Amino acid sequence: MTANLPKVECIARARIPTTQGPDIFLHLYTNDQDSKEHLAIVFGEDIRSRSLFRYRYPEETQQERMIRGAYVGKLYPGRVSADVDDRLGLKLEFDPKTGDMLFDKRCVWDEENKTLVRIHSECYTGENAWSARCDCGEQFDRAGKLISLDVEKETGIVGGNGHGVIVYLRQEGRGIGLGEKLKAYNLQDLGADTVQANLMLKHPADGRDFSIGKSILMDLGIKNVRLLTNNPDKISQIEYKPYLTCVERVPMVPIHWTNANEGIDSVEIEGYLRTKIERMGHLLQKPLTLHTHEEQTTTGQI
Ligand SMILES: [Zn+2]
Repeated sequence: MTANLPKVECIARARIPTTQGPDIFLHLYTNDQDSKEHLAIVFGEDIRSRSLFRYRYPEETQQERMIRGAYVGKLYPGRVSADVDDRLGLKLEFDPKTGDMLFDKRCVWDEENKTLVRIHSECYTGENAWSARCDCGEQFDRAGKLISLDVEKETGIVGGNGHGVIVYLRQEGRGIGLGEKLKAYNLQDLGADTVQANLMLKHPADGRDFSIGKSILMDLGIKNVRLLTNNPDKISQIEYKPYLTCVERVPMVPIHWTNANEGIDSVEIEGYLRTKIERMGHLLQKPLTLHTHEEQTTTGQI
C-alpha cells in the first residue's frame, strides 16, 4: 500500500522525562532513502510504532525487546517481560504467524483518533544557537506545549491532551544543509530575503521532502492528522489518502503576536515572517476545519 513511500523502521525507543511536564517517547528511525537519523517525539505511551513492536522471530528475548524499547507500560528494575506490565495490568498480543502487534484499544492508540501532529525540520541555529532569524525553536516549543495541553487558554486552541507526535526530520535549512544556510544568512544581511537568498545559491526556495515523515506517521498508526502549521502546502505534502488524512489545520501563531512580552522580537524575525506570508503563502489565522483545499486557500490571510 505504500509502494511509493520510503520504507522506515523504528530501531529504538526510550522514555525521556522532560522539564515541560509529561514524559515523551523518543523514537529513532532508519529508512531506505537516506542515511540520516530521523526521529519521532511521541507524547502518549500507547502511540506505538508498528515496525518497532513487530516480533523479531525466532530468537528475540523479552530482555532484548525491552532494550529496544518495545515494551508496554513502564519499565522498572527487575521487570522481566516486555509484552506484559503486571503492575499496570497491560498486555500486548501478537499475530503468531507474522509477529505483528494486534490492535487492542486498551494498549494501542486508536488509529481513528484525530491526532495533533507537527512536522518539524531540524534547525540548528534556531534550536541551539538562540537564533532570532527564524522562529523554529519557538515553534518547536509551542508544538510540545499544545500537544500536552487540553485547551490553550489564551487562544482557545484545542490541544492534544497528552497525545500527539512531533516528527523531527533532519533537513537543515529547508533541505540545503547548515553550510549553505549560513551563506544564505550572509546574503540576507546583504539585502536578500530568505527565498531570494536560496535562489541566488542555486537551491530551491524550499527543498524539503516530507515523504519520510509520512511513512513515520503511518508506522505510528496515525491516520487522522490535526496538523500544526501555517503552511497550506504542507497539508497536501503530508497527506497520503486514504491512509493519511489531514482533518484540521491548527495554526502556529507567533508567541510575540499574542503576548508582547514573550516570544522572539527582532527585525530579522519580522522580515522572515513577512516573507513566509507574502512569498510562501503561509496563513496566520484562527483554527479552521478543512473541507476542501479550495476553501482553505480562499480564507483570509493576514
Ligand atoms: Zn529555523
